[in-house]
Amino acid sequence: MDLSVIIPIYNEEANIGLLYNRLKGVLDGLPVESYEMVFINDGSRDASLALIKGLAVTDSNVRYIDFSRNFGHQVAVTAGLDACVGNAIVIIDADLQDPPELIGDLYAKHKEGYQVVYAQRRSRQGESFFKKFTAKMFYRILARITSVNIPVDTGDFRLIDRVIVNILKEMPEQQKYLRGQIAWIGFNQIAVEYDRDERNAGETGYTFKKMVRLALDGLTGFSNFPLRFATLAGFFVSGIAFLLIIYALISFFFFTKTTQPGWTSMMISVLFIGGIQLIGIGIIGEYIGRISSNVRNRPLYIVKDTNISSRL
Ligand code: UDP
Ligand code: MG
Repeated sequence: MDLSVIIPIYNEEANIGLLYNRLKGVLDGLPVESYEMVFINDGSRDASLALIKGLAVTDSNVRYIDFSRNFGHQVAVTAGLDACVGNAIVIIDADLQDPPELIGDLYAKHKEGYQVVYAQRRSRQGESFFKKFTAKMFYRILARITSVNIPVDTGDFRLIDRVIVNILKEMPEQQKYLRGQIAWIGFNQIAVEYDRDERNAGETGYTFKKMVRLALDGLTGFSNFPLRFATLAGFFVSGIAFLLIIYALISFFFFTKTTQPGWTSMMISVLFIGGIQLIGIGIIGEYIGRISSNVRNRPLYIVKDTNISSRL
């Protein structure tokens, strides 16, 4: 199999028809002998699954994996990676924000000898200022504090070689931040720029909560900086406290008249130190939570139904 296309689906009934037509048009025109489309239904509550199954009846290149519930975008893509058999693998969103027509460019770069060809957003259409701003900030902060060179303004829309997928399958962490893991793996990586379109129809499946979780998975998975930050904040606050202690002692012994009951300074220092401590505990908690979920080692996803059960 030359090419697998992985498409995570969460409530995309309004997009599947057009997506399939555009994808098929592109894939039929590529210089490949065989390809497959792997749809992962991530617990959709609409008619998405029925539509995909319908496609599978008429088109033998269509495969589907139906999850027992919503496990999240990164896990859906991971299931697709586990099940696909292509030598080149494309990950693409179902809402047509990632133009399928770009796959031709990605594939051409792959043929030039690149194992990872990621699509980098030159511009983003139809997304809120808040989303664009937070995404931009996040990618830049992450790039600063991690030792892995994770490209900025890049989602999961990309083409990766079979070599990369086989290594990904060996990486056992439960928290998937695929774009980070792929950057970490290395090999020859290159960007192809594109303009991100508006979502064709329907609503985003990435709620604020899911966005925060993905961001924290990226941060904790690829950087220990937050832990170091807690330490540094501790030192910083202790330094200030030390100076204040000296000041308090001097005042007490030499300037007895100026030592007032001092409610304000007490409140400030108690609240400040308490706040720093809570932040520190919270940061440690984020890491410990991830350690414990990796120790539990539950399966990442549960498959309810599929037409490629032999591969999973
Ligand atoms: N998606 C998914 N599970 C989820 C949320 C989203 O499989 O829990 C899929 C969704 O169907 C789409 C892709 O992941 O194909 C990107 O999601 P979305 O377009 O909602 O995110 P956004 O582009 O708004 O960041
Ligand atoms: Mg989208």
